[in-house]
Amino acid sequence: MTDKEQQEAMAVTTPPYASDPLAEGTVDAVVIGGGAAGLNGALILARSLRSVVVIDSGAPRNARADAVHGLIALDGTPPSEILRRGREQVRQYGGRVVFGEVVSAEPAAPSVDGDLRFTVSLADGRHITARRILVATGLTDVLPQVPGLAEHWGHSVVHCPYCHGWEVRDEPIGILATGPASIGHAYLFRQLTEDLTYFTHGTDLDEDSRARFAARGIRVIDTPVTEVVNDEDGALSGVRLADGQVVARRVLAVGPQMQPRTQGLEGLGLPVQDLPNMARGFASGVAGITEVPGVWVAGNVTDPVAQVGASAAAGALAGADINKMLATADTDAALQKITKASPTAATR
Ligand SMILES: Cc1cc2nc3c(=O)[nH]c(=O)nc-3n(C[C@H](O)[C@H](O)[C@H](O)COP(=O)(O)OP(=O)(O)OC[C@H]3O[C@@H](n4cnc5c(N)ncnc54)[C@H](O)[C@@H]3O)c2cc1C
Repeated sequence: MTDKEQQEAMAVTTPPYASDPLAEGTVDAVVIGGGAAGLNGALILARSLRSVVVIDSGAPRNARADAVHGLIALDGTPPSEILRRGREQVRQYGGRVVFGEVVSAEPAAPSVDGDLRFTVSLADGRHITARRILVATGLTDVLPQVPGLAEHWGHSVVHCPYCHGWEVRDEPIGILATGPASIGHAYLFRQLTEDLTYFTHGTDLDEDSRARFAARGIRVIDTPVTEVVNDEDGALSGVRLADGQVVARRVLAVGPQMQPRTQGLEGLGLPVQDLPNMARGFASGVAGITEVPGVWVAGNVTDPVAQVGASAAAGALAGADINKMLATADTDAALQKITKASPTAATR
């Protein structure tokens, strides 16, 4: 399976939803990406009477999961339902949610009073102008190239003990190692099952970790995994090794490579940085501020380990910061107007 085929097997779009029309003229903020981060950012902005348009291509990272877990009050709710409610709430306060894909976003000429402007273009050729941008496009999980792995992603192939751990507790679980972070991953899954096998799959496992694994009853297999094996019902039943042996497993835990979704955003000039655990993300500071004036980032595109709650919280913080900066810009513009009309009035 090529990388593209693997991504297609893993990617799922949420059920199509009605799109709002794109706003005319200049809006206060365009939010690129309508997952938990983007929608919460938009909610804060809309509730602050800011004109806000969310542009979303409808493929959130957790679309393959049946339910969101570990999120207080919403635990067990399907991802599509949380997002449906989120869109409804943004719209309730006058925000718009447009189904579409952003293919370019870049700074435009500032307004006459010197305020920032951005042009955002969609794949269908439409454009919109915004004063500020919140990027919340999430990330792409890239699994190791093992035949049969991608089709079980989000069900029997899992990455996060807090998202799916309870659901796979006490099962025969295999850790398919992808790097040093898999060692820590193993202890978290060991907490959930006594039947844990660690497949090194070409990665290093130091002697100290081997001793610690042995102490916890974690079996180690160094022979590479060649494919995932299913039972007659199509459920994951094990892995085949390079020597032909099949090791029975019901669940595989894999740390994917996490790549920020930056396509189409190059024109913003946002720096990307390396992060722990084979991840990369847009560099950001407090409340998602970036070194590019007028552009904020939130959620998995900057913080790959943020779960739904943390992503939503980051979006809310960024939305509030954008509103604060707009309030300052509005006041600067008002003062400038008075100064221009009557140069002495502004100093009184
Ligand atoms: C299988 C799986 C299960 C998970 N289960 C849980 C769980 O149980 N509990 C939990 O808390 N977390 C869970 N997570 C983590 C959760 O998915 C993330 O925390 C969350 O999705 C991050 O939200 P986000 O808004 O940053 O990104 P996303 O939810 O990925 O949303 C990004 C949005 O931006 C859109 N987008 C991207 N590029 C563009 C573009 N160019 N133009 C327009 N739109 C664009 C996408 O279509 C998408 O709708 C799980 C993750 C996976 C992979």
